[in-house]
Amino acid sequence: MTLYAELHRHLGGSVVPRILWRYFQRNRPDISSQFAAYDAFEDFYTRPRKTLEEYLELHTLVESVQTQEALPYFIYRLIRGAYIFENLAYLELRYTPYLRTPEHLPQNERIEKMAEIVETVGRASQQTEYPVVTRQILCMHSKLPGEVNRAIVDLAAQYPEYVCAVDLAGGDAQYRDRLDELVSLYAHAQSLGINTTGHLYETTEGCYPELLPYLMRIGHGIQIPLRHPELLKEVAARGQCLEVCPTTYLKTGTLQEIRQLKTVFDRCFDAGVDIAICTDNAGLHNVRLPFEYETLLTQDVIGFDGLQACQEAAFRHAFAWPHNSQPSSMLSALLRRTRLPRAEAETVEAPSGLINQAWFQ
Ligand SMILES: [Zn+2]
Repeated sequence: MTLYAELHRHLGGSVVPRILWRYFQRNRPDISSQFAAYDAFEDFYTRPRKTLEEYLELHTLVESVQTQEALPYFIYRLIRGAYIFENLAYLELRYTPYLRTPEHLPQNERIEKMAEIVETVGRASQQTEYPVVTRQILCMHSKLPGEVNRAIVDLAAQYPEYVCAVDLAGGDAQYRDRLDELVSLYAHAQSLGINTTGHLYETTEGCYPELLPYLMRIGHGIQIPLRHPELLKEVAARGQCLEVCPTTYLKTGTLQEIRQLKTVFDRCFDAGVDIAICTDNAGLHNVRLPFEYETLLTQDVIGFDGLQACQEAAFRHAFAWPHNSQPSSMLSALLRRTRLPRAEAETVEAPSGLINQAWFQ
């Protein structure tokens, strides 16, 4: 039995089409009435886009309904699905809190409201019915002013119980004109002791070596092994992990077929660079984490050994996994222990204190 860690999932893209459709039907008939039926909506919501920019536009549809009042509704269903269908034991959920505040308010008031959003998401995530260890990653956004992004970093520092890291999102082609500012934002995050990741080397437009040293993990990073393999040595030396999200590259037109990822995995494995396989936008893609794993196997991108190495890497690079070992080793020890006669069982090394009892309730 194995449980998984998901390190790269956007709150905006995590709502599966059926849940979003039901929400629209109940609360926003002005949106659902634009589609003849559910199938038409699903087709619109999940179909591939030509570019990353076009793809990111879809997030605005979900962001507009994920208001402070509606967030608990979506988060409850997200964690329920992650637990029941994806076997997740650990989930880092990322979003830009500023984009969940009311649009009509002036910037300073929206900045102030961000704390309430973090608290709302934090409280909604900490339910016991579906016990997945969940933390937030707050995303700076390439289209937001520096002042807002700095406030996002400061907010991450204020809520260590809910927030485990900061990210940079919003389209990597936008970074070029603001590199100095982005470097100073990451330096600020580091000075506050905040963990860092960032969408970087996702597309050919998003390759900025200036930002690389500031990241503990790299959001996507696939262009490093594909186009800049000379960087792999330093990525390995820094212990940085790539968050690879296979379906995304097909939906954004970055890759044409999943088999192109074989080069990414092969070169990273050879160079000693860890990869965590992630979904990015499981709802928007309608593809859950176990299916990402299965596709990589069936398309001969990786084998079972490689898959297991990536699953283990995900827990090792998780910013807030609270245990010393992974669920698979804890569960194996527990299951073996229950099968053995009492005297023998006592010789099995038990992961004392590491089991989250809530899993078995
Ligand atoms: Zn992403």
